[in-house]
This record gives sequence, C-alpha cells and structure tokens, in this order.
Amino acid sequence: MNKIYFDHNATTPVIDEVFEAMVPFYKEQWGNPSSIHWAGRGTRKAVEDARENVCKLLNCAPLELIFTSSGTESDNHAIKGIAYAKKDKGNHIITTKVEHPAILSTCKHLAKEGFEITYLEVDKDGLIDLEQLKAAITPKTILITVMFANNETGVLFPIKEIGQIAKERGITFHTDAVQAAGKIPINVQELNVDLLTISGHKIYGPKGVGALFAKRGVRLTPLIHGGHQERNRRGGTENVAGIIGFGKAAEIAIRDLDKEIAHLSMLRNRLETGLKEKIQHVYVNGHPEKRLPNTANISFEFVEGESLLLNLDMKGIAASSGSACTSGSLEPSHVLVAMGISLELAHGSVRFSLGKSNTVEEIDYLIEIMPPIVERMRSMSPLFAGHKF
Ligand SMILES: *Cc1c(COP(=O)(O)O)cnc(C)c1O
Repeated sequence: MNKIYFDHNATTPVIDEVFEAMVPFYKEQWGNPSSIHWAGRGTRKAVEDARENVCKLLNCAPLELIFTSSGTESDNHAIKGIAYAKKDKGNHIITTKVEHPAILSTCKHLAKEGFEITYLEVDKDGLIDLEQLKAAITPKTILITVMFANNETGVLFPIKEIGQIAKERGITFHTDAVQAAGKIPINVQELNVDLLTISGHKIYGPKGVGALFAKRGVRLTPLIHGGHQERNRRGGTENVAGIIGFGKAAEIAIRDLDKEIAHLSMLRNRLETGLKEKIQHVYVNGHPEKRLPNTANISFEFVEGESLLLNLDMKGIAASSGSACTSGSLEPSHVLVAMGISLELAHGSVRFSLGKSNTVEEIDYLIEIMPPIVERMRSMSPLFAGHKF
C-alpha cells in the first residue's frame, strides 16, 4: 500500500541532511557546551552556529534567541514570563479563541492565579477584528498574544498591524509562529513583535527543540531556573543534537522557501479544486487568500470526519481532523466552532496539510478515491437521506 502523508501541520519528517548533521553530536562530539576544555569547545561553536541559522530564519540577533524544548515551552515561557515580570503593572492578557492549546491552556492556568484573560472572537473567515482588539485593551493590559498562522485552517493573522497597536500602547506582543515558519517569510524587524515562538519538528527538524525570539530589552521571568545556559534565561544543559538539527532545518527552510511556497500552493489548489469538482456539498474553511500555502481545511457535509479519516487511513492516507478526542467524547474543533461553522459541518471536516515531498500524483490519487468513500458514507447517513436537493 502506498503511504501518503498529508499531516505536516502535526509534524514533519526529519530530512536526511538534518539527520546527518545531528549524528556526530550523539557520537564523537558529546561534550557539554558549557565546558571550557577541548570536549566542550566544539559543541559550543556548533550550538552558536546553529543559533545563527535559526536567527536568519527570523532576521534577529543571536542574543535575541532562546533555545527551548518545544513550541509549547516557548509559548509558556513567553506568556508566563511576561505575566510574572509585569504583574505589578497589570494582570490583563488578550488572546484569541482559536489559539493552539499551548497558548489557551497557559492562559487558563494564569486565570486561576488571578490574571484576567480576554479571548477575542473570530469571524467566519477565522480572522479577528482589530477594532475589537483595540476596544479590549485596558490600562491593565500587559500582553497580547495572537498566533501568526492557525494550525487547523492555515489562516494568517495581520501580525504587523496587531504589533503596531500593541507598540503604540506599550503592551508586549507575542506571536506563536510555529506554523508560519518555513512556509512564509518572517522578518521580526518589520513585524513589531516582542516575542515569537517557533518549533523544530514543524520545519523538518527534530522533535523536542524549539526557540523563543525575545527582542533585545524585553524582560522575561525564566520558566526553567537552573544554570547559566541561554544567558541565564533557560537553565539546563542544551539539547545539542536537537539544536544542531534545528539549525540545519532552518538553513534549508531559508534556501527552499520560494520553491516550497510555489510547490505547496499549486498542490493545495489542485486538491481543493479537484475535491470541489468531484464531490457536492464541500466547503473550504478559512479566509480564501489570507492563509498558508499548504493547508486545506475542508468540510464534507453529511459525513462524519473521524470515519472519513479512518477510511483514508485504510487507503494509506494520513490526514487529521480538528476535533480532539477528549475523555471519550468527540469535541468538534474549537477553531471551526469559533468561526461560526455549524457543529455538523465542524464534525465533518478534515485538514490536509501538505509538505515538501508531496506530489501531484498523490493529490490526484486522493481526488480519485474520495468521491466513492464520501458517497458510501452519505448513503448510510440519515441526515443525507432526509436532505432535499
Ligand atoms: C505544533 C504547534 C505548537 C507546539 O509545538 P511543539 O514543539 O509540538 O510543542 C504550538 N503552536 C502551534 C501553532 C503548533 O502548530
């Protein structure tokens, strides 16, 4: 059976060049980068070279980049780090209803500690209203955190404009750019951001490594207290091989960006057009233009998304749904629900997130096998039977 992977927003395969760059750091180059003797010097240099490569991906200075264990840790560090550092100035944080759980759970936790959180609504395209953002700001607002690109729909938020609003009011601005990195250009010099999160395994690097850009002068309370690593901002001996892999992945992401954007958007458009042509009652979710080139979030009316995914899996195709199976009950995607999409359609949605190695043949295979699957599922659906066309 052919194996086809359309779930790159969940994770990406480590590319060969990245893996090969990492191997020496599990073998001969095992020194601690904090050691000043021969065993540590080489690893220190390699870590700093990797840092420069990751910085180039964002256009920031090396002292503005903190390596962490994940995108999740970077999000926690940014939010809790500002909340604790600025709690004398205020206790109000603004975010959106469609953030990744790494943001939402952190905010929920802070709410228990007495912080007040505003969750901005989104419209049917998945975007926030900047006037509503302005209206939500109070003298107690210390942080705004809004994602760069949504992981479920690919919708892109106006980061520069949000940053401008925050900057004019002296409020710290963080963005979770885990899904944007490697898929669209990111230049922190132009974006008015103070803090920005990225993750290694979403850009063809290894799992277990992330980074937080913290603009020069932004004071953060550390999340992990320990030694002097990362300029006293993140204790713990560095994940050297992971950092090296992250650096290599960043280098390749910069090199291939234009090519990737063209390749991914061509495939994504072919997928959406093909499915809409072949199957009735199919809707693409999210703003039609303001979105990532690789993500297609599609609702199939009168179809249950989870069963559709199982059917695709049987054909070797890996995709995902927005819904998370929590404690045995299927919750519809919080992102699609926030966009005002009906529960039924939200349950019938599938996310196809494309990547480097996907081909036209794979897309055409999907377009070929989908109609009979959907037709069979609909023929068993009481909702579809009762529907008048
Ligand atoms: C994957 C993801 C994260 C979490 O990153 P990890 O490195 O897996 O912890 C955070 N935010 C977004 C938008 C993501 O897609």
